[in-house]
Amino acid sequence: AHQTALDLNDGRSIPQLGLGVWQVDDGEAPAVVGAALAAGYRLIDGAAAYRNERGVGAGVRQSGLPRDEVFVTSKLANSEHGYDEALRACAASLAAFGFDALDLYLIHWPQPGRNRYVETWKALVRLREEGRVRSIGVSNFGPDHLKRIVDETGVVPAVNQVELHPRFQQRRLRDLHAEMGIATQSWSPLGQGRLLDDPTIGAIAARHGKTPAQTIIRWHIDNGLLVIPKSVTPARIRENVEVFDFALSEADLDAIAALDDSAGRIGPDPDRFG
Ligand code: NAD
Repeated sequence: AHQTALDLNDGRSIPQLGLGVWQVDDGEAPAVVGAALAAGYRLIDGAAAYRNERGVGAGVRQSGLPRDEVFVTSKLANSEHGYDEALRACAASLAAFGFDALDLYLIHWPQPGRNRYVETWKALVRLREEGRVRSIGVSNFGPDHLKRIVDETGVVPAVNQVELHPRFQQRRLRDLHAEMGIATQSWSPLGQGRLLDDPTIGAIAARHGKTPAQTIIRWHIDNGLLVIPKSVTPARIRENVEVFDFALSEADLDAIAALDDSAGRIGPDPDRFG
């Protein structure tokens, strides 16, 4: 698999495709991460809330790849908002992974009702200055949350990781990201598997001799998105990275664009969650 990478607004680069490890058991994580790295993945999307940072760190070490060839993301848990809390939580995550630094650290959810995401963002800025994390970003942030952290700190997140798949395409948020210089990372990129039997996707997949999962992952890549599909099954892990030998046509992209649905959200509404 010949991976593609995108440039972030802080001068660093990020693999476009990675493995999501939500709901991967800590004990299973070394083997799952090992299968992904052997298949050519170079990014693992973790989080403190997934309770598998220890297993992910072990999987990266056991792969034998140099640490700087694997891009590891983690996310600050909802219970850890606040300046001192975030500094401590990052230290705990680094210890669990067994790493000196993370490649990307995200605020997992904005929790606007708690209203502590600005001071939390200031802690992430400090963590980057101290070299504990190389790039900083957010997840599930809406336009108001993004504008507020930038107004108050002058630091634009490198990434906003949000729910995004053919049934929930987030076009307005993506336009704002483009204006602000923020990379969009798609979570639940396969709609948690629910999009795999869509007939439009199936027809396009058949035309390219690819599977529905590969077709959807390629749609994210052709749209300039970062994409982190999850699987614990070695054959599917390999299948999901075999997407660099084809591209979708304009007609394919138009057909998938038409699947967007304002009611297509699967996960929680970020304004109310956490
Ligand atoms: P997904 O859209 O990646 O779907 C995963 C499911 O699709 C799998 O469990 C499996 O059932 C199925 N699948 C995967 N590959 C397949 C294949 N080739 N053939 C058939 N079925 C296949 O869903 P997800 O796990 O919700 O999202 C991916 C990642 O996004 C997560 O693991 C996590 O890292 C991240 N995420 C982040 C947030 C956030 O709040 N930031 C929220 C949800 C998920």
